[in-house]
Amino acid sequence: MPQETIFSKIIRKEIPADIVYQDDLVTAFRDISPQANTHILIIPNKLIPTVNDVTTEDEIALGRLFTVAAKIAEQEGIAEDGYRLIVNCNKHGGQEVFHIHMHLVGGEPLGRMLAK
Ligand code: AMP
Repeated sequence: MPQETIFSKIIRKEIPADIVYQDDLVTAFRDISPQANTHILIIPNKLIPTVNDVTTEDEIALGRLFTVAAKIAEQEGIAEDGYRLIVNCNKHGGQEVFHIHMHLVGGEPLGRMLAK
């Protein structure tokens, strides 16, 4: 069994978080350290540590990340101007929390895709 992270506690509402959306498959909440005017994390309720651990069984839940991202972007009023969806994987990707999450960032111009 993969090791739980703080995100499992957020899903179960055992620790506080600013949850903006939750259903049977995914949970979305505001990032504690926002990198843009809008910065929301959308995660599967099932613990999948990294993209390397994804299987075909996860396709419905991970597809839901995109439909929920679109819905939240609309709610946040950033859909038309646009935004960026980011999923980091492991060391080179800069992943810090080992429970797959999609960052939804926007609300301002985000500049080039990669900073070096
Ligand atoms: P990553 O580097 O892709 O693993 O991103 C992890 C993200 O989780 C970072 O943007 C953190 O600010 C965010 N984060 C960590 N702990 C919490 C928390 N308790 N509530 C909300 N966001 C968090």
